Amino acid sequence: MAYEALYTRGRPKTLSQLIGQEHISNALARAISNKRLSHAYLLVGTRGTGKTSTARLLSKAMNCERVHAAQEEGRPLERKEIPCNKCDSCRNFDSSPDNVEFDAASNRSVEEVKRLLSSAYLAPLRARVKTFIIDEVHMLSFEAVNSILKLIEEPPPNVAFFLATTELNKVPMTIRSRCQVLNFRLIPQTTIAPYLLTLARRLNVTLQEEAAKKIARLAEGSMRDALTYLDQCYAMSDKEITLNDVNETLGLISDENLDDVIAAVKSKDRAAVGNAITRAFRSGLSANVIAESLITRLRDMEFEMLNRDEKNFSEPDRIIDALRSATGEMYGSGIPDIILEMALMKLTAPSQNFIAMPVQAPTTEKLDEGKKFFYDVVNSLSAEDMRLAAATDNAFVTGFSNDTLTVSFKAESMARLFKNHIANCERELSKKAGRAIKISVVIDEKLPSSSSRGMSEIARANLDNAKIVFNATGETKFND
Ligand SMILES: [Zn+2]
Repeated sequence: MAYEALYTRGRPKTLSQLIGQEHISNALARAISNKRLSHAYLLVGTRGTGKTSTARLLSKAMNCERVHAAQEEGRPLERKEIPCNKCDSCRNFDSSPDNVEFDAASNRSVEEVKRLLSSAYLAPLRARVKTFIIDEVHMLSFEAVNSILKLIEEPPPNVAFFLATTELNKVPMTIRSRCQVLNFRLIPQTTIAPYLLTLARRLNVTLQEEAAKKIARLAEGSMRDALTYLDQCYAMSDKEITLNDVNETLGLISDENLDDVIAAVKSKDRAAVGNAITRAFRSGLSANVIAESLITRLRDMEFEMLNRDEKNFSEPDRIIDALRSATGEMYGSGIPDIILEMALMKLTAPSQNFIAMPVQAPTTEKLDEGKKFFYDVVNSLSAEDMRLAAATDNAFVTGFSNDTLTVSFKAESMARLFKNHIANCERELSKKAGRAIKISVVIDEKLPSSSSRGMSEIARANLDNAKIVFNATGETKFND
């Protein structure tokens, strides 16, 4: 048997199964019980919130023999009885020629739409009421809108219209004012997740609660999207649908990984940022997707903060802003990974833009300490990593104050080589000093070209220092 999508199987069969729209299903059940149904409804709401499903339930109910019998007896109907799904009319509904459905956004010709609408003037073939369900009604041509307008102003007997739209502002006021408007709400995550779990149980699929919550969050209020996501995960998973399956199937980065990146940025721990972002890249996702996932995660965190009545969003906002501008820079760039990494790194140190910095004469004693730390670390790390040796070949230690070591390069290209090693060097420097040491990278064109190969690192450093004190002016701080 062909696989039937969950979206089809999860479609509501009675008004009681219309999830997240109880204000509508209750009102409709009352209207049906009191025989006060309108002949024209305008169903408004975001995609996947149940507009078309409701229109079908209503068309079916208008023709349901048991609903009709209850109305005749004056017996109030419960939502789960609307419609009955057992009578001839209900069972034949899907093939009924008296229910006309079409999507105004599809490529139907103006002529065809006209023909479909003109059939409203013909009596129903078998049903009590002939029903028209028109999706995306705001996409109809001017001519078609006029035909509908005429039909709902002076409706032929036994005809009902269900006009659905995602964009109420594009529906002409003349139509709006003649319809009973049903406003569909976004379905909350707290409603979608339990529904997915119930549905999975009914279908004998094991679904992890965390996985259901994640899908519910991604669906952003649309039950159809939630069911489509669940379907995709179901097709790819073995027996149980886990959070990991959801992440992998839908190409998502794990929340844990995202939280690691955010926590590292917040604690201004460059090494941790480097590790977390490297792990994220290893998942094979593009820098763009990672940046977007981080923004979504931060937005979720802000909502959680709101729920806890916390009002200071400056930290998450700062990260979101940086990610947004990085996303802009990434567009069309050949090095999106580096742009994202740099944007996050920059957040760990407050003032690292290209800004002009006056040269301060370094206190010799302090500077010597810094140099010793730096070259010891470089020497020990270079033993294992030749690239670090090459990257620091043209580096000058030009300052050491407030536990920040200034490392200068004559050219930006040289500084870029060093960029990947900063986190590592900082970690080792901090270990050696017994306190957190940061590195600030500076470009200074006035620096001498390195012509001191063959000298010991410290000797070279001392010589360079002497040159710098006398020569260097007008440094530019390098954006690392
Ligand atoms: Zn029925």
